[in-house]
Amino acid sequence: MRIAFIGLGNMGGPMAKNLVIAGHEVAGFDVVPAALEHARANGVLVADTAAAAVADSEVVITMLPTGRHVLDAYADGLIAAASPNTLFIDSSTIDVADARSARDLVVAAGHRGIDAPVSGGVGGAEAGTLTFMVGAADDDFGAAEPLLSIMGGRVVQCGASGAGQAAKVCNNMILGVSMIAVSEAFVLGEKLGLTNRALFDVASAASGQCWALTTNCPVPGPVPTSPANRDYQPGFAGALMAKDLGLALNALESTGTAAELGTLAASIYRRFADEGGAGQDFSAIINTIRAASNGTRTDGTVTA
Ligand code: NAD
Repeated sequence: MRIAFIGLGNMGGPMAKNLVIAGHEVAGFDVVPAALEHARANGVLVADTAAAAVADSEVVITMLPTGRHVLDAYADGLIAAASPNTLFIDSSTIDVADARSARDLVVAAGHRGIDAPVSGGVGGAEAGTLTFMVGAADDDFGAAEPLLSIMGGRVVQCGASGAGQAAKVCNNMILGVSMIAVSEAFVLGEKLGLTNRALFDVASAASGQCWALTTNCPVPGPVPTSPANRDYQPGFAGALMAKDLGLALNALESTGTAAELGTLAASIYRRFADEGGAGQDFSAIINTIRAASNGTRTDGTVTA
């Protein structure tokens, strides 16, 4: 099958590579030359323009930073360049409303469109073990599923258009809130004279158990593979958590959902990203909590 892949960055690059390895002809485009060169080395047929990549492809996959990028790319030539009935798969993490607008655009032009955001990070993209959350009609899901299974270990049909993004935003709101809760508990434990190991051994086998604790543990030691053991190199960057919680905030507001913790988590991670945490793993939020608890801000000034 010939597949156009638009957006060959940290996630899109390895995802496109896995499609090539599976035997598909992948025509790729990115606005950054270095991303194109990297893709070329992985067997992607690099195109001069997005439209050239899309021409003659049966499927168009986008993996772009934001909803604005996706809608602009669709409107600026992807849709017009596609053959009738092309299947558009957007795997970027974007607003539910933008996902539905994107699908409406492709359907109005005689194509098919689904949202299929992912979790699993760059490691999952490289290993082909991503989880895909899919918003699609049944027949479109059936057409996309074999391709998504190459790039992912789990493909879940969540409902109609937008449902994949809805699942993604809800999951990441749980993750943001739970990482803050786990981090606050570790700092409280430290203040109470508890070792991190003791709290981990109890909570990981008790009702405090969660992914933020047992896989991405924010203190070094208990989980040797967690980013805390490598000075909080991501992992899942604070900038992306801030972005995803911003999407959650939009969804909370547009649906009138009363979610005090989700709203607070969005503002906590926005501040964290703005004050130096953007490039750190999101579990480094524990350092801001510890600093505030010790009467210092992260910039070293003393709190009142
Ligand atoms: P990235 O910035 O590494 O890659 C995005 C790529 O899109 C860049 O190479 C950029 O040059 C390219 N691009 C931008 N505008 C373009 C255009 N008009 N045409 C062609 N290419 C264009 O970002 P990423 O980490 O690969 O993330 C992509 C999406 O996946 C985001 O929506 C992100 O939220 C989501 N996501 C990321 C992760 C992660 O761990 N990195 C995990 C899950 C989901």
